[in-house]
Order: sequence, then C-alpha cells, then structure tokens
Amino acid sequence: MSLFEVLSIRKAYGSVQAVDGLSFDVQPGETFGLLGPNGAGKTTTMSIIAGLITTDSGTMRFDGREVEPHDVAFRKSLGVVPQNLAVYPDLTARENLCFFGRLYGVTGETLADRLKWALDRSGLTPHADRTTRTFSGGMNRRLNFAVALMHRPRFLMLDEPTVGVDPQSRAYLLDCVRQLRNEGVSTIYASHYMEEIEAICDRIAIVDHGSIVAMGTLDELLAQLQIEIRLRTLLPSDSVGRVTEQLNAHPHVNGVDARRSNDSEETSFLIRTDLRSDTAIDLAPLTTQLLNQISENDGRVFAISTQESTLERLFLELTGRRLRD
Ligand code: ATP
Repeated sequence: MSLFEVLSIRKAYGSVQAVDGLSFDVQPGETFGLLGPNGAGKTTTMSIIAGLITTDSGTMRFDGREVEPHDVAFRKSLGVVPQNLAVYPDLTARENLCFFGRLYGVTGETLADRLKWALDRSGLTPHADRTTRTFSGGMNRRLNFAVALMHRPRFLMLDEPTVGVDPQSRAYLLDCVRQLRNEGVSTIYASHYMEEIEAICDRIAIVDHGSIVAMGTLDELLAQLQIEIRLRTLLPSDSVGRVTEQLNAHPHVNGVDARRSNDSEETSFLIRTDLRSDTAIDLAPLTTQLLNQISENDGRVFAISTQESTLERLFLELTGRRLRD
C-alpha cells in the first residue's frame, strides 16, 4: 500500500493554473522525485501537502486515510525542508534545533539525543554554538534540513534543498537523504537539477505547467527515448540524396536529416531510429548496415555518435522546452 497519495489536486492563482490535476503516490521508504523547471508547480504542490495553502480541488491520503485540513497526526509524521531558509539567524545551530524540536513536542533526553544526531547528520557538530548568521549558504542549508528531522518524521519533503550550495554541502545533503531512505523514511524531493534527481530518486515525476508529463523509474523514463545516431561523413555531393533515401529505407529508421557543409565535403546525417534506449538492444546490426551504405556510395565515415538518453532530452521531447532556465 502507498504511504502517501495525491489525487487530482488543482490550484490556480488568478488565471495561472499552478497545479493542474496532479496525481502521484509515494511508497514506504521511497525517494520520489519531482523534476521540473522553475514555475512548474513544485513549490505549490509541496505547500499544499504541507497544509500551507488549500487546493481548489483534489484529495490526499496518508497511511490509507484521507488527509483532513489541519490534520495534526499527518503533520507530526511530516518533515518539511522549505526552499527558503527557515532558521533564525540570531540563534546558534543548537538553539535553532532545540527550538524546532520543542515546537514538535520533543523534550528532555530525547531532545538531547536528537540534537546530537541532527548535528552529526548535517555535519554541523563543530559549529553547533555559532550563530547561524555567520554560517555559509551551504551550512545554513544543512541546518535547514536538520531542523526538519528533529521530530524524526516518517515522511519528508525537500524543496530545491541544494540551490546555491557548495559541492561539499550538496554531497552531505544527498547522502543524508540516502541514509534516511535506508532507515525507511519516504521522501518527496523537488528539484530542477536532473543529476540530483537521477542520483537519489527511486521514481521520478517530470512536471511542467502543473501537470505530470512522465512518471516512472529512471530506466522506465529513459526507455521512452528513441535512439538517434549521428554519422559525420565525407561523401560525393551527388550521392547525398541517394544515401539519405537508402538510410531512410531501413526498417528501424524513422527519419533522416542530412546536412551538407558549405565549406567542406562533409555531410552529417542525423538518423532517428525506432529503437528504445535500454540494455536489451543491439545497435551493431543497424550501424553496420548504415556504415556499409555510406561505403557503397564511395563515402567515408569519420565520426559516429549516439545522442545521450537523459531526462533533459526526454523533457525537451515531451514539452519542446529545456529543464534549465
Ligand atoms: P520555483 O522553483 O521557481 O518555485 P516551482 O516549480 O516550485 O518553481 P511554483 O512556485 O509552484 O513553481 O509556481 C507555479 C506557478 O504558479 C508559477 O507560474 C508561479 O508564478 C505561480 N505562482 C506561485 N505562487 C504564486 C502566488 N502566490 N501568486 C500568484 N502566482 C503564483
């Protein structure tokens, strides 16, 4: 059974449909990624889940029951790492952690144990008694994360937690999510950094304009992409049309773009195949035939490449836009 489900939620701000019928579920112990460009609706979705804003329609379920407005049991199970820092700059790291721990009713020895654990997890033990005003961006991000862990939530949401952080802090944060996953914590991780989502998420929803445009494991998503082969050739100009036709006639080829250079004999072919990007395929027979066709037309191939299958490319194919700004 899913730990958490979002069912067809919608939220508009005036004429802007920020979230447009979004549905997904998070399994126990799963790290679920929300990947989308700025403005895709990730923060709005997370704010709805956190109970900070209301939906126009749709429901959510946690542990098999519907989440009510002001649902205390759900909120106690949930840890939120917001996009904007939510720590007090005039308090030390220790004071911030104690304050937020107490807000969740953590006291006494448990508080002391959690404090030690959270400082350790975030790599902030040596800096525990410094006011956070003196912290670097990355340290503040780590503290922002640690604060959300003080009540040991079963379900965690992180909204762009690594924006503007140094590589060391980024590695710390990602490791921390992995460790929590190993301890059975379920996480929603929203980001527009494809590499992070790829590195830590079990399943990924790609979001654009408030809707999910693709969802699945990384392998499932990348398997939606068809392989493209680029051949750079030197070919007599009167052979280009014939070679293009021959390449196009291959049963696994969906289309060929030929581009002839103006100032050299180079012709570059972009060959779109119907082959999906997974380990079960063998590109050797197809590429051998394509290369033979060039040779048979007195051509030479001096470079061969396949376009990398990435979430960025999938997003581009599905939406016609890039993930990055
Ligand atoms: P970012 O990482 O930039 O915050 P996001 O994917 O989290 O991007 P949202 O912040 O959820 O996206 O924004 C979704 C859409 O809703 C955007 O078009 C945004 O401009 C709009 N929006 C968000 N909050 C408000 C608001 N309070 N009032 C009006 N429009 C809003």
